[in-house]
Amino acid sequence: MAVLAPIGHAGSRGVAVTSTWRREHAGSGLTSRLILAYVEREAGGQAVKRMLERAGLSDGEERLRDENFWFSYDTKLALWSAAEEVLGDAQVAEHVGGAALDLSVAMGLKRALRALGTPGFVYGNVVRANSKFNWAHELVVLDSGAEWVRMRYSDVAGVGYHRYDCEYTKGLLATVPQLFGLPPARVVHTVCGARGDACCEFEIRWAAGTQGLKRVAAGFAGGAAALAACGALAEPALLPVAAGVLVAGELGVAARASRFTTRRVRVLEQRVHEQDDAARRLLSSLEDLSSDLRLDEVLDQITAKAQTAVGGKEFALLLADGNRMRADRHSGIPTTSLSALEGWADEHRETLLDRGTVVVDDLATDPALAALPREERIPFGSMCAAPLVFRDELLGVLAALAHGSTVFLPGDTAALSAYATHAAIALSNARLVTRLERQAAEDPLTGLANQRAFYRTCAAEFSRAQRAESEVSIVMLDLDHFKVINDAHGHLHGDQVLLAVADALRRSVRGHDAVARMGGEEFAILLPDSDADAAYDAAERARSAVSQVPVAHATLSCSAGVATASPAEASPVDLLALADRALYQAKRLGRDRTVTSRSTVSRLGLA
Ligand code: GH3
Ligand code: MG
Ligand code: MG
Repeated sequence: MAVLAPIGHAGSRGVAVTSTWRREHAGSGLTSRLILAYVEREAGGQAVKRMLERAGLSDGEERLRDENFWFSYDTKLALWSAAEEVLGDAQVAEHVGGAALDLSVAMGLKRALRALGTPGFVYGNVVRANSKFNWAHELVVLDSGAEWVRMRYSDVAGVGYHRYDCEYTKGLLATVPQLFGLPPARVVHTVCGARGDACCEFEIRWAAGTQGLKRVAAGFAGGAAALAACGALAEPALLPVAAGVLVAGELGVAARASRFTTRRVRVLEQRVHEQDDAARRLLSSLEDLSSDLRLDEVLDQITAKAQTAVGGKEFALLLADGNRMRADRHSGIPTTSLSALEGWADEHRETLLDRGTVVVDDLATDPALAALPREERIPFGSMCAAPLVFRDELLGVLAALAHGSTVFLPGDTAALSAYATHAAIALSNARLVTRLERQAAEDPLTGLANQRAFYRTCAAEFSRAQRAESEVSIVMLDLDHFKVINDAHGHLHGDQVLLAVADALRRSVRGHDAVARMGGEEFAILLPDSDADAAYDAAERARSAVSQVPVAHATLSCSAGVATASPAEASPVDLLALADRALYQAKRLGRDRTVTSRSTVSRLGLA
């Protein structure tokens, strides 16, 4: 019975990407999804059920259709064998590989490969493409020419070779020119590990464009010349035959050229469509990014939408914090890996700023990142890191991490760079808004909340207190004879006294009390969950703190008015008016004292 091992629960423990781990991740969801789609197309949904039953995977359909899923070598073989039996097709693996372009699987990969432009470039990037399918075997280019390439497929997990892999690889390699509307490649399996050789080798030949057809046409032209030269044209009896051969030949070439053009146009249309689709997805994730101006939301969105925009595996967003890079958001990356990423980003600030996006194909080879492939639960093999730059400032780094090594294609890198550019704009907009909001709520001299912010806090606290059925108190404070201090020592000294008073008040209250500068030399304190006695004590503590503030040649005093009520008795405006009234009383009674207004609640008829 095959076992489905989701990534992160592989057999290996505590070692770098080991053979065991590779064996457990020998097949990607791209392959299983392709197999299921092919069997469904050939024989229907019931055949898929039968296949899964035979493979012992009846409860794994959803995961097998997930392109980001990885499963073991045994599961892969079990699936191929069940597909072969159910379809009665001994070449099923080659047929599935060959049908890859017709089935709606790996659309992102196809788009990225097509964007490379020619079959030659795709074959040149085969190491990266193969890493998206398979961890147990490696595919490398040995040698290549204009329209041919020789590749080696070798076992790097100790699983050996199976004809299913050979056939599947053969089928997939043949389809590459079809990405560009060309006929499939001819793939010859010269050396075969499944037949006992040390590895597998494939020789691939394809026609790179109309060159092939032009050569054939040139052949017919040459034929005409040859016929003329050998006297056929001078022999009237042979003329109709010769002309017939040439016309038929040239008609054939014309028909093939026309088919070729039709196919090419179709592929170009498809490419336009795909690019349109990619642009739309990028735009929609950018819309999400810029539709919110709250910093927290934007930071959440940057990592969450990166997957839609770029289609990578996991993402980490590091933010520049002073002279350090700090991991801020991520999609479930282990802590040790995040620390290593932070160290790496610190080290590479200059490079990221000057050179832009960086791809590290094999994390094990970079000492700063070697911890990532060694991580037990979620080892990563490669990384593409794009800087978030706004106005020449490095705001952070968005790192896409993939499980395989050598995975990122040029298209992935370009998409991540574009996304990071916009993420940087969204981030700096959100920061600007946060700063403006803070400024709008803050008293510029003391940094305390201003009157507007204090009213907002009061409203929020009153509705909370209403639910909790608790009392709220407000203390209004006014410095005594402050004008004298200003007059005697100047406005600047007065400002310093106000700053010191703000500090003293901040220190005299509890963590959840709110202190505000209401204007001039007048301050307010909101005391949640405080009855009149507790509020009186708080006012006295605040006054005592103010009296410690040093003033040239004098001592500072202040008067306080305290009001306490439950939200059922009074609104925030009522309570402020009461505290103000009590403050006025304190001034009238000679200053340097606290007056409470508990009794005034009923006197004002507010109850
Ligand atoms: P009372 O005990 O009646 O409150 O006397 P007072 O002098 O404190 O009150 P009054 O309202 O007459 O004067 C308030 C003074 O506070 C006048 C003003 O110059 C000063 N003031 C208001 N805002 C600032 C400020 O931002 N900086 C400085 N240095 N002084 C300020
Ligand atoms: Mg005053
Ligand atoms: Mg005043």
